Amino acid sequence: MNFSIRNTFAEKAKLFELAVFPSFCKICRALLESPAEKVLCRACLDKITPHRAPFCPSCGRFFEGVGEPHLCSACLNEAPPFSMHRSFARYRGGLKDTLLLFKYRRYRVLGLNLAEIVSEALKKEDGLWWDVDVIVPVPLHRRRRWERGFNQAEVLARELGRIRRIPVETRALKKVKNVPPQTSLEHADRKSNVRDAYRMDKADRIRGKVVLLVDDVYTTGSTLRECAAVLKKAGVKDVRAVTVAQA
Ligand SMILES: [Zn+2]
Ligand SMILES: [Zn+2]
Repeated sequence: MNFSIRNTFAEKAKLFELAVFPSFCKICRALLESPAEKVLCRACLDKITPHRAPFCPSCGRFFEGVGEPHLCSACLNEAPPFSMHRSFARYRGGLKDTLLLFKYRRYRVLGLNLAEIVSEALKKEDGLWWDVDVIVPVPLHRRRRWERGFNQAEVLARELGRIRRIPVETRALKKVKNVPPQTSLEHADRKSNVRDAYRMDKADRIRGKVVLLVDDVYTTGSTLRECAAVLKKAGVKDVRAVTVAQA
């Protein structure tokens, strides 16, 4: 079937769907008219824009205001176990709404939109993608994964892997402690919360490789630090990390 015929078919199918089961953008309630619009309308997706202000080149923490990029005090004090981390934008506005719909309302298809947005915005960050052998999503404890039906970081990792043509490894790193979500804890409790929460299962799959860790939200950084430390201990050559949003 050639492309234009397939397109016409998709348009007809969409018209039928609109007439029988109209669907609306879950943020602005506009009618979803294009076959490409699944949960959110194009206008709402286009409003999600990358962070522009300076950030720490090592841990990726965003700074307030303007100025040159510089190492943050935490990285000056102690270099993180990953060589670099980049977040797409702050966890607020339309991006926060989209992540909440993706994660808690289980609109898994939004993982594709988010991965596309992140990949496009960070495509010039050569140090992040260069030579990456494998993408590893931050794992969920199997009980939480079962409750949610999917691991949001894994969905993002698979979409990023498909876009950037990098293999994804989901079995090497395991979460062995079912701890409360980071966002529900006070700052001081977050670091101890993730201690010993992750474990290597199949270290031979990633030994000597350059790994890109993927997660949805970066809060204090303790999850990425803990995962990166476990990976480094298992013989990974270099760990980098990417997250969609930074709280
Ligand atoms: Zn909308
Ligand atoms: Zn830093």
